[in-house]
Amino acid sequence: MSLLITNIAELATPHGMVLRGAQAGALHIIHDAAVYVDGDTVCEVGARDAVEKKISGNPTVIDAAGKTVIPGLVDSHTHLVFAGSRETEFAMRCAGMNYQTIAAAGGGILSSVSATRAASVDELKSAAKHYLALALAHGTTTMEIKSGYGLDTETELKILDVIQSLSAEQPVELVPTFLGAHAIPQGKTSEAYVKELLEMLPHVKGKAQFIDAFVEENYFSHSETETLCRAAIHHGLKPRLHVNQLTANDGVRLGLKLGAASVDHLEKITDDEIRLLANSDCTATLLPAVSFFLNYGYPPARALIDAGAIVAIASNFNPGSAMTLNMQLVMSIACTQMRLTPAEALVTATLNPAYSLGVSEKIGGIEIGKQADLVIMDVQNHQMIPYFFGVNHVQTVIKKGTVVYSR
Ligand SMILES: [Zn+2]
Repeated sequence: MSLLITNIAELATPHGMVLRGAQAGALHIIHDAAVYVDGDTVCEVGARDAVEKKISGNPTVIDAAGKTVIPGLVDSHTHLVFAGSRETEFAMRCAGMNYQTIAAAGGGILSSVSATRAASVDELKSAAKHYLALALAHGTTTMEIKSGYGLDTETELKILDVIQSLSAEQPVELVPTFLGAHAIPQGKTSEAYVKELLEMLPHVKGKAQFIDAFVEENYFSHSETETLCRAAIHHGLKPRLHVNQLTANDGVRLGLKLGAASVDHLEKITDDEIRLLANSDCTATLLPAVSFFLNYGYPPARALIDAGAIVAIASNFNPGSAMTLNMQLVMSIACTQMRLTPAEALVTATLNPAYSLGVSEKIGGIEIGKQADLVIMDVQNHQMIPYFFGVNHVQTVIKKGTVVYSR
């Protein structure tokens, strides 16, 4: 099976494995471009005439007249498998109620935990499948998904099994993360729960690639997180951590000490930690949709990029603080609220998150030899994507050389 996408008004893509600092917005842009795909791999990409001359055989042709082609979007931080929804809590918050009142009325993360525990595998799967189809329709072709709405062995493993079976049943490529350390379950001490998490690890082995923990006051301490991560590393999992979201808790330092692939959130990062991150290969994963939705301030994306840190943006899709799967909107918020350029928004939504997931050798860019994951956007150039906001510009999604969505 071969595919020729031609007559592309603008092809915009990052090159290489990761882009940082002054290179963070270094897109390669080709006007009147074409891409030739053989099987699941990009074989030629460049000016239309040059690419078309090199083609033999009879590829399926897609005419992208007047449109833009970008790499498939990579959403590297989501909590996509959960039951129920929390719009009532949202309405209470809109009406001015605080978190304590909402939690007392049965809202908050523990309400998602009870719904997820009560849900069958089929119920969880069908909800997750619906969300994945929406993400795909918005251009996301690779996604990290965390467990974490189980908080007991049975449900955490149920969620990881759901992720595993969804990998085979729909086109979005999934990277599973074990986030048993999302919160302390009701009625348990943190000591008892960490012990339980350590006992889960041998069962998690093979079902998740990463270990995550919510490092925060009243959640998981540095020493608990370190104990858990060290044991998880022993089982082949790599850390990526929720840090510095609500307090300046030195979580970046902890992440670097543990060799984390990514430290996520960073709303309360210090200047000192920005310097440390800039001198490391750990990705700073920022979640602007949460700051937008909870209206509590943004992480210092500009300072991180300017210092030379590796920055990625992600949706943080979850029922409490970020009920969106639209990475195009996340890019718009990153530009307007965190002062990224449209080019940086594209790099931080494709190549850099792929790097943080350890897959940028084949994912996150349109280059010869990389996997053919690309999106045809119904706009004239890549700057239009965050500029014309709140609208889905996706025309066609190609995953591993196959058209998996079009409208
Ligand atoms: Zn999260």
